[in-house]
Amino acid sequence: MATSPEPGALPELEPGTLPPDAGALRGRVREFLAGQDFTPRCDSWLTGADPAFSRRLAERGWLGMTLPPRYGGHGRSPLERFVVIEELLAAGAPVAAHWIADRQTGPSIAAHGSEALKRRFLPAITRGECFFAIGMSEPDAGSDLASVRTRAERVAGGWRLHGTKLWSSGAHLAHAILVLARSAPADGDRHAGLSQFVVPLPGEGVRIRPIRGLAGEHHFNEVAFDGAFVPEDLLLGEPGDGWRQVTAELAYERSGPERLLSTFPLVRLLAERATTPAGRRAAGGLLTRLWALRQASLGVAGALARGRAPDLPAALVKDMGTRFEREVIEVVRAHCPVEPDPASPDPLARALAEAVVQSPGFTLRGGTNEILRGIVARGLGVR
Ligand SMILES: Cc1cc2nc3c(=O)[nH]c(=O)nc-3n(C[C@H](O)[C@H](O)[C@H](O)COP(=O)(O)OP(=O)(O)OC[C@H]3O[C@@H](n4cnc5c(N)ncnc54)[C@H](O)[C@@H]3O)c2cc1C
Repeated sequence: MATSPEPGALPELEPGTLPPDAGALRGRVREFLAGQDFTPRCDSWLTGADPAFSRRLAERGWLGMTLPPRYGGHGRSPLERFVVIEELLAAGAPVAAHWIADRQTGPSIAAHGSEALKRRFLPAITRGECFFAIGMSEPDAGSDLASVRTRAERVAGGWRLHGTKLWSSGAHLAHAILVLARSAPADGDRHAGLSQFVVPLPGEGVRIRPIRGLAGEHHFNEVAFDGAFVPEDLLLGEPGDGWRQVTAELAYERSGPERLLSTFPLVRLLAERATTPAGRRAAGGLLTRLWALRQASLGVAGALARGRAPDLPAALVKDMGTRFEREVIEVVRAHCPVEPDPASPDPLARALAEAVVQSPGFTLRGGTNEILRGIVARGLGVR
């Protein structure tokens, strides 16, 4: 894989070009969505879980799109997947149940997993029958992920996990969680001695407790491992390769259009409802900026499709995109005198409430903006 540019060089982000049949694919997704019965919502990729909807997408071939056909996947390009997920996000469709498995765990297992792991999980992910949670963060390890304290102890036939993961989105709905744990002492290199394990959920020795959000909603969890046994064949990759793998996984986690589109339902409602010239100008301004961000996001998807690891451009797009998502809320509030209310019959009041409640997390999840700017600065050779 080619990597980020030389320190000091500006990243070259080639324009993302959609495949020739993108328009037809987009049309099929829109047609499907028009026939579905769901209430559009903001942040639907994290908080809008509907397993039955996920399975209907799977029946259309829109889960596991980029996974290898040999393991049940559809062998399509990341740009084709971009088209599909862009439409789903723009519609505020309930895609959270499968989002993590489809976006990052499936590709990680495809890239690093043993034959047994690929056969067991990839077809199920593609059928919408296996949802995953992310077990990276811990009470004392968020931005500084290499300091994870969850320990993997070698035992006969596999490993035992001891420790606690935090903020695991959707773990209460997931069939498995991919856990980053220390499997050997660091010995001077803190990135060494880390491994990733697939832990089926629910499981013996695994306790999942809800962490409630600002409005009492439940989407993330604490997941504690009290000597949970993980058989050898559920180790992802080789022991000690966890850091390299998790870094690659974060590129998938950070680079997609969900980092711009969490509040798109609000942009659409503003465009429909703004009656004053200032309101219409504001809607136009948001759409213009969104278009530029979208082109950059497409550039990142194009780089991934060419087998590159576009860490630096992906960090830039996520930083700008998540700030945009937040600004949308302010602009809408300034031009539409509507009180946020999650129970309102008015879609704008409801969407505003969803966006306001989730917005503190926009610039944190998947790596904070400060950390992303560190990646950008280091990539540009700034000390
Ligand atoms: C909605 C949401 C969903 C999430 N889902 C998951 C999930 O499914 N699985 C999972 O594992 N995690 C998940 N997370 C956790 C997320 O990845 C962490 O919150 C994030 O990485 C930050 O870690 P932290 O919360 O420990 O903050 P800290 O690392 O303690 O950071 C606190 C503050 O200090 C700043 N800071 C820290 N280090 C530096 C530095 N070196 N330079 C400059 N500033 C710095 C940070 O930017 C931040 O502002 C989720 C978080 C949210 C908000």
